[in-house]
Amino acid sequence: MKINFVDLGRQYKDIRDEIKEAMDSVLERCDFILGSEVEKFEKDFAKFCQTKFCVGVDSGTSALKLALESCHIGKGDEVITVPNTFIATALAISEAGAKPVFVEIDPDSYNIDTSKIKSKITKKTKAILPVHLYGQMADMDPIIEIAERHNLKVIEDACQAHGAVYKSKKAGSIGHIGCFSFYPGKNLGAYGDAGAITTDDEEIAEKIQMLRNYGQKQKYHHLEKGMNHRLDTIQAAVLNVKLKYIERWNESRRRLALLYNEKLKGVAITPKEMHYGKHVYHLYVIRVNEASERDRLLEHLKSKGVAAGIHYPIPIHLQKAYSDLAIKEGSFPVTEEFSKKIISLPMFPELTEEEVDYVADSVKGFGG
Ligand SMILES: *Cc1c(COP(=O)(O)O)cnc(C)c1O
Repeated sequence: MKINFVDLGRQYKDIRDEIKEAMDSVLERCDFILGSEVEKFEKDFAKFCQTKFCVGVDSGTSALKLALESCHIGKGDEVITVPNTFIATALAISEAGAKPVFVEIDPDSYNIDTSKIKSKITKKTKAILPVHLYGQMADMDPIIEIAERHNLKVIEDACQAHGAVYKSKKAGSIGHIGCFSFYPGKNLGAYGDAGAITTDDEEIAEKIQMLRNYGQKQKYHHLEKGMNHRLDTIQAAVLNVKLKYIERWNESRRRLALLYNEKLKGVAITPKEMHYGKHVYHLYVIRVNEASERDRLLEHLKSKGVAAGIHYPIPIHLQKAYSDLAIKEGSFPVTEEFSKKIISLPMFPELTEEEVDYVADSVKGFGG
């Protein structure tokens, strides 16, 4: 057997006719820039996320950057986040001109350890930027409480968590702003780059509408030095089709994750769904007991035709790009240890139960 890490082709086969029709209607109307499909998507995605507003942008990275800028966060400011995330979280903070300040992760959820936030707050701290990693939300109540006490903004990196839930609230609806990526492989993915922000704050929504579109509200009247970060209309048309299926796809991911959990019990450390919410398994990440086993297990899976990944092999504070922060190895022991022990197994809604069996059996068959 050969099992891809993600197989977008299978999904395309299921929705091909609808996608073609949606794309063709944009071509027929020629409303390529901020067309009606963008407006429809913004309305429907806001509803999906239980927020008042959504503003479509051109990527998740842009969403994060514009979110920070809309809160006037930039040069001289500090933003608290985690070292165990995709690099874009930190890059967006840097791109806004601010400094990322890292907080260790909680070993159960792999998300920010909320008990360690307070000690990282300084006079320069302006925001907390929790990441809902792998599709599971960070523990938001303590984050909101700390933020309120210190007058900080909360910006959710929900780029891996479309539809995830925390105590009946959807990802992107708890902080001041939620940031989403619709990179093709995400739970809700476009056929190219795309992203969005969600918020209940009308002022922030309007500001980001301007910032994504040359700083104008009215054509040729530029109120701010904005940029071009618009959501492409054709991508919005694709997203409008896919949004109808996201709940079903997320349920499929959850069912497959449970199956993996059962099969891998006692074989590897399987993901823990926290009591407070609903995990949507953008990634299904297991951990081996010894770092020395990890790369050999990866090789073993490869020899069985199973494509696995590591998310992420190098914590952000140890990336060359962030050597200017001069954070020593050993500063975040949980993050660093996990980065050597984690493996992401194939996970996508169209994966079959037979394939999950095969992957799990391949993991079990590894002698260590
Ligand atoms: C994908 C992702 C991003 C960046 O999104 P792009 O659309 O690729 O720019 C940011 N943060 C996290 C956690 C992500 O997974």
